Amino acid sequence: MGIVVYPGSFDPFTHGHLDIISRAAKIFDKVIVAVSVNSGKKPLFTIEERVAMITRECCHLENVEVGYFHGLLVDFVKEKNAQAIVRGLRAVSDFEYEFQMALTNRNLSPELETIFFVAQPMYSFLSSSIVKEIAGLGGDISGFVSKGVAEQLRIKYTNKKT
Ligand code: ADP
Repeated sequence: MGIVVYPGSFDPFTHGHLDIISRAAKIFDKVIVAVSVNSGKKPLFTIEERVAMITRECCHLENVEVGYFHGLLVDFVKEKNAQAIVRGLRAVSDFEYEFQMALTNRNLSPELETIFFVAQPMYSFLSSSIVKEIAGLGGDISGFVSKGVAEQLRIKYTNKKT
């Protein structure tokens, strides 16, 4: 049922992201995870680290591809011949921003749809920023990210302190 692009910062990749990708991969022929290079935030992980991290975490899903984009998302979507953008909705707090983005992207590219997946209740509080905050304070993040990502976070924060 077509190709979709799932864009985001993924800094770092969490169980919430994997849940959206796994569900989208069951419905669509191909899911292209697209790491955004120019989001305003200063990332903890480089683009290369995030692409490698997501590729590793999604290697069991055959129809998932990972890349990154500079500039406009709608241009990347066109270049990939995708028909829709996939986003996750956690709570009412996500809604306003997501609604604005979806309308803006529709304005830029009228035939492009944005499809929302509602977060699983168990992950609806989970965000990359919360994970970084807990990891930075030395807390247990094993319920939120994979072992591999947890280890990468541990290394980042250990190096930061020294
Ligand atoms: P961005 O900076 O573009 O919001 P994120 O990496 O934070 O990028 O999120 C990418 C997408 O994944 C967004 O649509 C976001 O709402 C969704 N998302 C993030 N965390 C979760 C989660 N725990 N459950 C479901 N969707 C999520």
